[in-house]
Amino acid sequence: MNILEFIKEFPDEISCKAHFKVQREHEGVVCKKCKCSKHYWLKAKWQWQCSNCNFRTTLRSGTMMEHSNMTFHKWYLAMLFMSFSKKGMSALELQRQLNHSRYESIWFMMQKIRKTMGKRDNMYTLEGAVEFDEGYFEKATSEKVKLKRGRGSQRQANVAVMAESTPLEDIETGKTSNHCRYFKMKVLTTHQGKEIEDTIEKNIDEKSIIFSDKSTSYIDIAKYVETHIMVKSTKETTKTTLKWVHIAISNAKRTLLGMYHKIKGKYLQLYLDEFCYKLNRRYFGNKLFDRLTLALAKSYW
Ligand SMILES: [Zn+2]
Repeated sequence: MNILEFIKEFPDEISCKAHFKVQREHEGVVCKKCKCSKHYWLKAKWQWQCSNCNFRTTLRSGTMMEHSNMTFHKWYLAMLFMSFSKKGMSALELQRQLNHSRYESIWFMMQKIRKTMGKRDNMYTLEGAVEFDEGYFEKATSEKVKLKRGRGSQRQANVAVMAESTPLEDIETGKTSNHCRYFKMKVLTTHQGKEIEDTIEKNIDEKSIIFSDKSTSYIDIAKYVETHIMVKSTKETTKTTLKWVHIAISNAKRTLLGMYHKIKGKYLQLYLDEFCYKLNRRYFGNKLFDRLTLALAKSYW
């Protein structure tokens, strides 16, 4: 979807609502009360009625849009702008573009869209050969002290970065290279083995092979996957075995810090979710907007 197609297809509130109804039915409307997925559409009320218990579901309820006073048109425009911008868009800029009076409601809506992106990617696990490493992102701080760098610093957020990286061999030259597919980034609150293992268990398929550098916190990773290969961290491994995680970490830092300067620790995951969502769909082009509306149309109860 480009801007001209958007203007044509979504000129007003009603066109957005009608589209959202279709997207929700595609994702499957689930009854909050009895979890039944069979519904009738009450045309005059713009609501679904559960065929089992008669409970009614509005267009927004159960989705990330629930409790929002923003129009569907503004939600759609926000998703359009967010899917356009490779590097992300500030809430202030979106507020200007939508000519909306309250900054907070725009900011809140964007965070909900980021949350939706994260939830979508949480539905999938990485598989095959997976690179694992940790990245350190600077957090916003109110203290006027110089930022301390290095592992475990209080002012840095520790992020687990995972990348599917399939080795490919060129048939003619015999040279091998790694082809990357999907990425995941998860903020860690500790640097302890247990949290890292939980993260691996949740995000990586148990039949995978994990490559990481040598660290005492990684010792038990092998319990959760088929094989765990630890390599000594050198300049060479950052270009080969752990190439994609390193590229992803530096791109994420550049994108996030360039756009938002510094992000509060508690919001970092949401910005990483947006970054990974777009990175994982980097070949989608104009289809990204459509996919995002589908993700938003999912029931989360
Ligand atoms: Zn029901």
